Amino acid sequence: MSFDSLGLSDALLKAVADQGYSTPTPVQSKAIPPILAGKDIIAGAQTGTGKTAGFSLPLLQRLAENVDIKARPRKIRALVLVPTRELAAQVHESITIYGKYLPLQTQVIIGGASINMQTRMLRHGCDIVVATPGRLMDHVNQKNISLSNVEILVLDEADRMLDMGFLPEIRRILAFLPKNRQSLLFSATMPGTIKSLAATILNNPVEIEIAKQNITADNVSEQVYGIAQGNKRECLSYLIGSNNWKQVLVFVRTKHGADRLQKQLIKDGISAAALHGDKTQGARTKALEYFKTGKVAALVATDIAARGLDIEELPHVVNFDLPQVAEDYVHRIGRTGRAGSSGAALSLVSPEEAHLLGAIEKLLKRQIPRVSDTGYEPILLNVAAAPKKIAPAKISGRKDYRHTDKKTPQRGNGTSYNPRSDKPKSRANSRP
Ligand code: AMP
Repeated sequence: MSFDSLGLSDALLKAVADQGYSTPTPVQSKAIPPILAGKDIIAGAQTGTGKTAGFSLPLLQRLAENVDIKARPRKIRALVLVPTRELAAQVHESITIYGKYLPLQTQVIIGGASINMQTRMLRHGCDIVVATPGRLMDHVNQKNISLSNVEILVLDEADRMLDMGFLPEIRRILAFLPKNRQSLLFSATMPGTIKSLAATILNNPVEIEIAKQNITADNVSEQVYGIAQGNKRECLSYLIGSNNWKQVLVFVRTKHGADRLQKQLIKDGISAAALHGDKTQGARTKALEYFKTGKVAALVATDIAARGLDIEELPHVVNFDLPQVAEDYVHRIGRTGRAGSSGAALSLVSPEEAHLLGAIEKLLKRQIPRVSDTGYEPILLNVAAAPKKIAPAKISGRKDYRHTDKKTPQRGNGTSYNPRSDKPKSRANSRP
């Protein structure tokens, strides 16, 4: 199938061609025609499938069909709700790129940025608003924004918005929208909460399912390293340094853990930045920019901050801590191997996390290959075991098989880095 056969206008086909897209992805070929026909849709599609263009292209086309370019101020005719600031910025950028030949204006409304500046922008008006629910509600409460002309509503990554506790805001925002509108819901997973939300907001929707739910991309190679918690940092520094990885996204469980690991990597001679919800928006944008442009090799992130990140051809993802929720494993490793490129995802799994690995493998319905020679004492991962408390770090020392006789395990320092011993995990600040 080609883009020409989907019913898109020349202006949009030209913008798509400028991007170098030759064929629509499955979510695009399934979603674009019904959206152009004015239908509601519910689509089970993960990030990396091309879903942003899947809703942005037909949305732009429908708005452009009857745009009043003389209207002052412009009325908001489309609202795209997303869970995170980073995703808002990316969706805004995509809509701007796809709509570059159309007379439509898009604004982004996110927390962590000046509310006064946003208020001024809103006074000028625009056609499309991409927003995170919390900040949008602030503007609604302050009567800075009118949503009464919204013709199209998009809920992107709806499951994550609910995970983040945005359901009350979403419900309040819905009350300000016209009943007669087109609604599009995208979600990587379809738990009961999403289905009931869909039932209240969608009208006879077209259902679209892309690939099988919760199945990871074929072009991502996955590996599990069984390793003591206290050896993880040294192992990570060693892997990055000895393989000369230039771009690796490292997932940790907590904000505090992200900051700590970033500092430790820097001490080990690896350029690193941290990305989590306690950072200011400026710091988050800078960390991401440094990572995307190769100024830092490692970005240490929590799940929420990293959700929806689109980094072209990201080669490596490391799970430094396994996620508590099995579905997050799929989202995490979906950061690599996007739009057809290949990637590698490595999970450092301590015996205390074996049950989490068990839950992930149950979800995937397959075993993730184990690396037998990790350079450390072999660790047995009993995936059927009951959850255990994460033990304080205990250093057993890297057996650096690459540099020494296999039979004489040595403690640490097989690299030119400066791996130091880890400290026990703090319980403070344990939220992502
Ligand atoms: P998304 O799932 O929307 O985050 O998109 C993932 C990536 O796929 C982005 O980098 C897009 O630029 C890219 N992409 C979207 N549509 C296509 C397409 N038809 N062909 C090639 N790449 C695409």
